[in-house]
Amino acid sequence: MTASRLITRAAWGARAPKKVSHDIRPGDGGVAVHHIGGSPLAITDHAQCSSLVRSVQNTHMNGEYDDIAYSFLACSHGYLFEGRGYGVRTGANGTTDANDRFYAVCALTGGTSSTYDPITTDLTEAIRTAVAGMRSLGGAGAAVVGHRDLTATECPGALYAYVRSGRFEPGTAPDPQDPPPPGQEIPWPGVLLQYPPVTVHWSARTWQQQMRTRGWTIGVDGAYGERSRRVCLAFQQEKGLTVDGVVGPETWQAAWRAPVTAPADGDTSHLDAPPWPGVLFTYPPFTRHPAVTTWQTRMRVRGWSLDADGVYGSRSREVCLAFQKEKGLTADGIVGPATWQAAWTARIT
Ligand SMILES: [Zn+2]
Ligand SMILES: [Zn+2]
Repeated sequence: MTASRLITRAAWGARAPKKVSHDIRPGDGGVAVHHIGGSPLAITDHAQCSSLVRSVQNTHMNGEYDDIAYSFLACSHGYLFEGRGYGVRTGANGTTDANDRFYAVCALTGGTSSTYDPITTDLTEAIRTAVAGMRSLGGAGAAVVGHRDLTATECPGALYAYVRSGRFEPGTAPDPQDPPPPGQEIPWPGVLLQYPPVTVHWSARTWQQQMRTRGWTIGVDGAYGERSRRVCLAFQQEKGLTVDGVVGPETWQAAWRAPVTAPADGDTSHLDAPPWPGVLFTYPPFTRHPAVTTWQTRMRVRGWSLDADGVYGSRSREVCLAFQKEKGLTADGIVGPATWQAAWTARIT
């Protein structure tokens, strides 16, 4: 990693710590890997990463911590943000023993088993670099563990498999040649798939494969031609996207994130709802959550007119109330477990 890939505290605008403790024996442990939390962050633009790190620090310092809790933070664009740094005790690992013996590196990703932010090659490379630095400059021992190895937590989510497979061991080969596991979203590769003329690109194959997995009849040949365009148009229509036959960022992402709906007969009653996200959508005040977009998108597919913008406001509440009345649910304007479930399982009438 070149120096320009390390973002110092001054560069990201850190607040000064309230207190610094050097009470750490990392040689008796090593490095614990974390992620930010249970909701996907969906950061595509690196310009947003510094402000996220500042907000993490503010949350920690406004709570019980002397500083941002982590030693370093890594973003999916391959940058490392300096947290407490070398030789400083962390507050992130959950127990006194774990904070005695482990540094903490945190990925700026999140999610749960149903939706994880994509784990990019740049992110895994940045974490490997952090581990190497904490060993050579910070005296860390050989262990690389997940937060959940130290205390009861789901952290670090999707990254735990990488911890277990040794992916964060410095010096292991970078992993671009490894295809992502089937069904795992990969970030939009930046090429618009369109026709005519035929777009030939590896990402056309990835998209075709994913559409096939969703149940569309489409060849997987890496050439985006007439048939691919027709599938794209039908998909965009079904999902309430801009219907232009071009796979751009929004249509690409929807191929992984939009709920799979039934074929043309419109009977979706056999579909399973995605797990309820555990957050009540209420208004007022606004509820902002990635799962709001999932619900709004689903309601659009059912024929309701509302924006899928991830913000549960007055229009979403109106739709919710009307839907609850129509389906004989408690009409309280709140999307809780029963209303969430019915958005997938109640018959479209
Ligand atoms: Zn953690
Ligand atoms: Zn970034």
